[in-house]
Amino acid sequence: ALSFLDGTVDAIRNLGHYAASTVSPRLRLGVTGLSRSGKTVFTTALVHHLLASVAMPVFRASAEGRIRKARLDDQPDDTVPRFPFEEHMASLAEPERQWPESTRRIAELRVSIDYERAAGWRSGPSTLALDIVDYPGEWLLDLALLDKSFAEWSRETVASSRRPERAGIAGPWQQALKRDPAGAVGEADIGQLAATFTDYLKALRAGPEAVATTPPGRFLMPGDLAGSPALTFAPLDLPPGFVAPPRSLASQMERRYEAYKARVVRPFFREHFARLDRQIVLVDVLASLDAGPAALAELETALDQVLLAFRAGRNSFLSSVFSPRIDKVLFAATKADHLHRADHQRLEAILKLLVDRSMRRTQGAGGTVGTVALAAIRATREATVREDGENLAAIVGTPAAGEEIDGQIFDGETEAAIFPGELPDNPETVFSGAVPSGALRFPRFRPPRRARDHGGRLAPLPHIRLDRALEFLLGDRLA
Ligand code: GDP
Repeated sequence: ALSFLDGTVDAIRNLGHYAASTVSPRLRLGVTGLSRSGKTVFTTALVHHLLASVAMPVFRASAEGRIRKARLDDQPDDTVPRFPFEEHMASLAEPERQWPESTRRIAELRVSIDYERAAGWRSGPSTLALDIVDYPGEWLLDLALLDKSFAEWSRETVASSRRPERAGIAGPWQQALKRDPAGAVGEADIGQLAATFTDYLKALRAGPEAVATTPPGRFLMPGDLAGSPALTFAPLDLPPGFVAPPRSLASQMERRYEAYKARVVRPFFREHFARLDRQIVLVDVLASLDAGPAALAELETALDQVLLAFRAGRNSFLSSVFSPRIDKVLFAATKADHLHRADHQRLEAILKLLVDRSMRRTQGAGGTVGTVALAAIRATREATVREDGENLAAIVGTPAAGEEIDGQIFDGETEAAIFPGELPDNPETVFSGAVPSGALRFPRFRPPRRARDHGGRLAPLPHIRLDRALEFLLGDRLA
């Protein structure tokens, strides 16, 4: 009887083993943020540290030595471009030592992590397939279009372009708008209007607002659709109660607008966004702070849009289109290496305040939300400089060629000690001008030189608090 029982137990064990090997755990991690927020640098650094297998203190699985090996694997989606990790690492390395080319479209990479479970009832080795999906945050702005008609979208977009502070920027497009929406048009006219509208959106982003929050997101970040007819449309100045006659300018624009929603926006949310399990949203808080109050207000609008996307499953209209399953979202203020250590906490507090305010306006994200200030790749080190008998906290780095700081133009080889400026203790004061625009100094630094360890091997790239982000995003799945 005993041996029979033994056999059964073995069979059950084998079955368990079989199940474990076929249903190996997976996690889809989204990396997003607006243009130049640091997605490419973050994704590259994340993969680099997972592969490097050097212990990171706050990332517990790593600190406890339970990560046995991480390796790049074939990604599950054949139609999504692969994230060019190797190219990016090569660009960061000597002699080039340049930042990699930024994210312009969706890309994916799978890292398989062999790890030892933490002591407990489920001990033993396991493998987590981590699928990292990097995509432009601009695309999330398009969610707002899904339940808007062409007429509603036109009305809102035209009205917001008439705000006094946008007058200078919106002029050429408003000039182009002065045509009869009921009139007949040719392809060239439509192309012309779309181009003028796109220029307006680009000017908004390049102007005092610094970030883009006016959809369509693909007009600013077209990805593979650059130059395609799917992006050739624009809102119109429609009189109240306007009904578009067939073949008129308005009816053609409306048809294209609806096609954009159906063929570009919905598929992105259904096929990519809805499949994510975790998300990190990168935010260049320093750039917005430095650009002034208009930029800060736009940043808040952008955060609202992002949070609305995460809780879309609770909106009855959107939940019929897709429902996100993201259970943890981390907002990260990037490029913290532009500040002295004393200011990292302040930067984090400002981000937390922005996110909290946005959560109140949008009623939450539908998951656990965290905030962190980090530098995925740390390009500076800290120093104390004595000036007029006072010790000043400075950062030292190599400003990129052509950067100008206090009248000095840098050649990309020379190091400099910089006083970046201070952030306020009370984050609330950023809304009342505590950081006057232009008060911070944050030049583009070149990526750091990599140190070598005792054996002459290259040390992993330096970072600030990247391990905290990893612990938040992956820790429980490697426990
Ligand atoms: P993306 O458009 O969101 O993919 O942004 P990137 O990752 O390409 O980053 C844009 C630029 O920001 C880079 O070229 C760097 O100049 C800078 N940057 C990004 N991350 C860091 C960082 O951790 N430290 C520093 N010093 N600069 C960074």
